[in-house]
Amino acid sequence: MMKTIPFVSQCSKEEEQDWIKTLAEKLPGEVIVPFAALTDQQKEAVEIAIVANPKPEEVAMLPNLKWVHSVWAGVERLLADLGDRPFDIVRLVDPELGRTMAEAVLAWTLYLHRDMPSYAKFQKQREWVELPYIKAADKTVGIIGLGALGQASAKILGDFGFRVAGWSRSQKDMDGVQCYSGPDGLYALAERSDILVCLLPLTNETTGLLDGRFFACGAKGKGFINFGRGAVVKNADLLTALDKQYISHAVLDVFEQEPLPPESEWWGHEKVTVLPHISAPTDIDTASTIVAENIQTYRQSGVLPPVVNKKRGY
Ligand code: NAP
Repeated sequence: MMKTIPFVSQCSKEEEQDWIKTLAEKLPGEVIVPFAALTDQQKEAVEIAIVANPKPEEVAMLPNLKWVHSVWAGVERLLADLGDRPFDIVRLVDPELGRTMAEAVLAWTLYLHRDMPSYAKFQKQREWVELPYIKAADKTVGIIGLGALGQASAKILGDFGFRVAGWSRSQKDMDGVQCYSGPDGLYALAERSDILVCLLPLTNETTGLLDGRFFACGAKGKGFINFGRGAVVKNADLLTALDKQYISHAVLDVFEQEPLPPESEWWGHEKVTVLPHISAPTDIDTASTIVAENIQTYRQSGVLPPVVNKKRGY
């Protein structure tokens, strides 16, 4: 008998239909339905749910859930809302997401590397100023968070010709990447980096981790890119670091409150580029393929893909 898998989300109707259509094509042995279409009997029987920012009260109506598959990479909201429930949480790990993020990291690293914010300012002031050119090979990009997205980014930056360093909780060994771990490793990385890229998840340990001490490490004039989560950065400390020239320019794609409220000072800050959380959007087609493979493996062997470590928070 075909089993029912609900798609539980707060997406728009069109987006929800898109997901369900694509998932259904890739999972011909399953019935994929929106949460709203489940009967009470089906709610009782559901073992797996596919979720995209679900309403926690809807997930709580599925009493026999064994695991949920998120179609997003970041799970801090799921964990905050549903982390104490007895089911496992699987997050999206998609090479296409890695490729998209690596592309964004390369694009915005080049933006900072080639002084585009300064040249935009000079143009506005009708000033003809030539800044000294420094080769990529003479600059170090430090990646904070060497997970799926951090490693894809490290690779593309290294291939382009930058010197690359990275920091993670567990010590890594990556070809061509100077790897750091542990609390002191973060400051050692910041010390030697010309451009810093944050790709950390938001957890209890990473909240407010990038603070005044971090920003003040090493030479002044570093570039900073945050593509991880807004609350990993202490905003007041980043503002001070921009004022004091420790950071010459920051590219921010993620914020504590999204959408960024109109009154936020980041919008008008001349040393800040604001992006609307677009560095690596989930691709419905490739994400659905990953979700389908994980569900098919589970149906055939009972083996779950790697699950989120609820204690660690990612
Ligand atoms: P991941 O594979 O889980 O990697 C997380 C990395 O952070 C790992 O290297 C991990 O270390 C490290 N880390 C976590 N906590 C740490 C700590 N306390 N100290 C040191 N290192 C720590 O996650 P991912 O798939 O690369 O995604 C990273 C984040 O990117 C997501 O959580 C999400 O917030 C964000 N994201 C943003 C966008 C966007 O469009 N802006 C899109 C997708 C994802 P270990 O390797 O030792 O575990």
